[in-house]
Amino acid sequence: MTNVYDVIVIGGGHAGTEAAAAAARLGGRILLITHNKSTIGTMSCNPAIGGLGKGHLVREVDALDGIMGRAIDQGGIQFRLLNQSRGPAVQGLRAQADRKLYAAAVQNLVGNIGNLEVLEGAVEGLLMSKDCVQGVTLQDGSEIKSRSVVLTTGTFLRGLIHLGAKTIPAGRMGDKPALGLSEALEEYDLRLGRLKTGTPARLYKDSIDWSVLEVQPGDMPPPAFSFMTGTITTPQIDCGITYTNEAAHTILRDNMKSSPLYSGQIAGLGPRYCPSIEDKVVKFADKDRHQIFLEPEGLDSDLVYPNGISTSMPEDVQDQFIHSIKGLEQAKIAQYGYAIEYDYVDPRELKSTLETKKIAGLFLAGQINGTTGYEEAAGQGLLAGLNAALLAVEKEPFIIDRSQGYIGVMVDDLVTKGATEPYRMFTSRAEFRLTLRHDNADQRLTPLGVKLGCVSDARAQVFEKKMQALDAARDTLNAIKCSPQTLKQHGLTVKADGAMRNGFELLRMPEISLKNLEPIAPQVAEFTADIAELVNVEAQYSGYLKRQEADIALYKKDSGLKLPGDLDYDAVGGLSNEIREKLKQHRPETLSSAAKISGVTPSSLVSLLRYVQKKAS
Ligand code: FAD
Repeated sequence: MTNVYDVIVIGGGHAGTEAAAAAARLGGRILLITHNKSTIGTMSCNPAIGGLGKGHLVREVDALDGIMGRAIDQGGIQFRLLNQSRGPAVQGLRAQADRKLYAAAVQNLVGNIGNLEVLEGAVEGLLMSKDCVQGVTLQDGSEIKSRSVVLTTGTFLRGLIHLGAKTIPAGRMGDKPALGLSEALEEYDLRLGRLKTGTPARLYKDSIDWSVLEVQPGDMPPPAFSFMTGTITTPQIDCGITYTNEAAHTILRDNMKSSPLYSGQIAGLGPRYCPSIEDKVVKFADKDRHQIFLEPEGLDSDLVYPNGISTSMPEDVQDQFIHSIKGLEQAKIAQYGYAIEYDYVDPRELKSTLETKKIAGLFLAGQINGTTGYEEAAGQGLLAGLNAALLAVEKEPFIIDRSQGYIGVMVDDLVTKGATEPYRMFTSRAEFRLTLRHDNADQRLTPLGVKLGCVSDARAQVFEKKMQALDAARDTLNAIKCSPQTLKQHGLTVKADGAMRNGFELLRMPEISLKNLEPIAPQVAEFTADIAELVNVEAQYSGYLKRQEADIALYKKDSGLKLPGDLDYDAVGGLSNEIREKLKQHRPETLSSAAKISGVTPSSLVSLLRYVQKKAS
């Protein structure tokens, strides 16, 4: 192995695999260094991909030819479209995974990339020349050089497991923590913080009384994540549902003093939206039960993941409260739940490319940036990998803005607001969510990927064919021009206002469907299910979408204004000292990033705008 790479990616988790694969799609020589090749693509916690907001991220990663969507389509054993009773903008795909099949799919996709090498090893430090990264040093003392480095070490930086009063230094159960890297980052003055997350016990499938549980089936046919997947062929399973109860809550309450979370043993903040069961019992004291999804970990696995009861309570308390739950009275525990605390880097240390501001060429992605979740990690990994590869060949960076994708929303939130608790994606975080739907992720991002060169020919062709079919369908619907009179002849009653209506206008009426339009325009019958769904969504949203387009134009006008990296804030008139200090500390890249810094007022933005425009003129 020669020792100069374009990009080195550290960590073979969800961020690292996307980063390495994305960098490799742009060409060059890429090296992925990870502790253990066999844990590439491992799901540290719940065996599932997607969910509300998260499903959008997976679709976006896929639209740019990433790995996650294709891997879950191979490894998924139960697929569901969540929020079906609500509008398409807030629906999200979720799939439960067979852990082994999912990891195998990721390893297979990574292994098939010609210009991507994988090395087993532990990175201990960074090779530096002044403030510029030049490669990495491994635990065995060897050095490997590269033009840029992407760090995706997940929960491993000074990771510390808590199980009751016990603490175990670890990156996750069974894996050693990474100790040297935190020191290297601190040496370069990157601000570090501490966060925590947790996982529930794993139960033996045969020890659960499934006969008394509610059954939760998946959708049929299973909806795929990847725009490249035709049909899901992996066998599908049902899950079970049970609930905690007063007895379980009493056991937890009576033992709260032995919870590391409440005894003060854990300092880091956990995910507010994914609390441990002891946290739920305290914070939602009025609730008499909490739902638990019993999710088999794989087709031939004898383990079940009880989703909803993550905990760091001592083993004996876990035994007691689990056995008090319906269906779990005789449950045998294969591995107890635990919490893990780890270092993260304040994401305000990053640019929108995910490169650190203080160390040139060093990019960070995933849990290390204060996020939680595989999908958040994958989205960042993809962006960091692309930008690390672009930097290596001195090309312009690739940025996704808030109007283009959830990846853009997430990165913008992180780099401008930071993360005081683990950040996870929700549709409510996106102000342009009617435009950022999961069904149109390819329309939003694949053309950008094609232009950048990170999308395969095969995907580009599939996309082009789909767009031709979609454009033809749009033309068909636009060409329909029907008066109320003509519609009446086809058995359709609309307001007798004499107005001519096109197909989109008709589809917007709740009582009219594509089927009704077939006698008027026979080509409608030829729309595939995918295309029919897309034109339906476009019809329902068309009024709102026009308004949102205007908002986006306004946003782009503002956010287009770049603030020079060396801007002398002391020379800007009309700023209070407090705002001046904040701007100096954050050094926002654009005017809209400046607007998101708490305390920065509209009048200070006007001062900033005037100053920058005057300087440029
Ligand atoms: P990871 O998937 O952790 O990957 C890190 C990779 O880096 C690993 O392959 C590791 O071997 C490698 N690595 C680390 N240090 C080095 C080094 N020095 N040299 C070489 N390789 C290195 N997310 C949720 O959304 N919900 C949850 O409920 C949840 N609970 C969790 C519970 C636990 C106990 C843990 C550990 C994680 C949990 N997560 C949860 C988080 C989820 O696992 C992560 O968000 C996701 O895996 C992050 O992906 P990543 O790529 O950043 O890191």
